[in-house]
Amino acid sequence: METETIRNIQFIDLQAQQQRIGEEIRSRIAGVLGHGKYIMGPEVQELEAALSGFVGAKHCISCASGTDALLMALMAYGVGPGDAIFTTPFTFIATAEVISLLGATPVFVDIDPNTYNIDPKKLRAGIEPFCRQSGKLRARGIIPVDLFGLPADYDEIGQVAADFDLFVIEDGAQSFGAKYKDKRAGNLADIAATSFFPAKPLGCYGDGGAIFCNDDETADKLRSIRVHGKGGHKYDNVRIGLNGRLDTLQAAILLPKLAIYEDEIKLRNRVAARYTERLSDFVTTPFVAVDSMSVWAQYSVRSEQRDEITARLKSNGIPSAIYYPKPLHMQSAFASLGYGEGSFPVSEAMAGQIFSLPMYPYLDKDDQDYIVQTISNS
Ligand SMILES: *Cc1c(COP(=O)(O)O)cnc(C)c1O
Repeated sequence: METETIRNIQFIDLQAQQQRIGEEIRSRIAGVLGHGKYIMGPEVQELEAALSGFVGAKHCISCASGTDALLMALMAYGVGPGDAIFTTPFTFIATAEVISLLGATPVFVDIDPNTYNIDPKKLRAGIEPFCRQSGKLRARGIIPVDLFGLPADYDEIGQVAADFDLFVIEDGAQSFGAKYKDKRAGNLADIAATSFFPAKPLGCYGDGGAIFCNDDETADKLRSIRVHGKGGHKYDNVRIGLNGRLDTLQAAILLPKLAIYEDEIKLRNRVAARYTERLSDFVTTPFVAVDSMSVWAQYSVRSEQRDEITARLKSNGIPSAIYYPKPLHMQSAFASLGYGEGSFPVSEAMAGQIFSLPMYPYLDKDDQDYIVQTISNS
């Protein structure tokens, strides 16, 4: 009898893309080595123009990471001690970390179990007490996260923000290129932050990020914050900032990647559609509203038999990952906020069942069939 050999499938195969545009990337890198402008070289401006065109936002300010993008956005609003910033506990630590880093207070709001994004109804209920009482904290802003590449519900969130006079910063670290009602992620809030960490849907070969906004004054402020709070020139410092620049080399690497990104989004959606079609009888597959499009930073499913399924995947050479095993309100780093088990039951329940499958534009059809079969052959 013939036994099928165990395949070696990667969770995200970053090499596959190089077969397609490796030449262009190498030639762009050579271009930077040629001119030697490693900091704020011409590729940085070229990339910013291309990114803002792609997103449809007036301004793009590239920066050193997605974390810096979020931090700089909060700094642009002068966020500090006494400010309450509302966000989700079901996200990567960076979303809430930057709030604490500035001395402000993250206030968590539970998620919608269908989208894993912040629940706008719970958001309204969570903000109300801060605005009624004259307590210690002042409600300032909201950071929704476009988890796994699917935009949050910005119409509902925007209404809440308008009612309470709050700013909205989109954490689009996982959603660059996604759509919400015909608008691109990155253009769904007052300011948006994204990340080009290698494993994100649009990734560079190191750390990188970008900020988007439509307001001229905010853009100027962000450009100043990016370079030590510079004023008219480098040694004129008008505010406290940081060293938050994107390397020229990373900008050069991102340019050819951005050129094929639209096509890669289609490929990602094809892989996702194939998973959903074949897996929905066996696990809870992701929900995407008809007027939204995900870029599938992760293809995440849910099952009460998670441990059994992921063990079976592993023994067949298929990696999986859990995003996120422990919601932020349960992390020791945020112990001082006073939350505990039971504070956000939806996030906690999802954390106990969710897992992500291999996902990248070039995931081979046979490999995907093998993954599906391994899950369905219980
Ligand atoms: C990756 C990520 C970040 C941080 O981006 P870095 O570029 O790694 O700093 C922030 N928020 C979310 C939701 C992320 O997934």
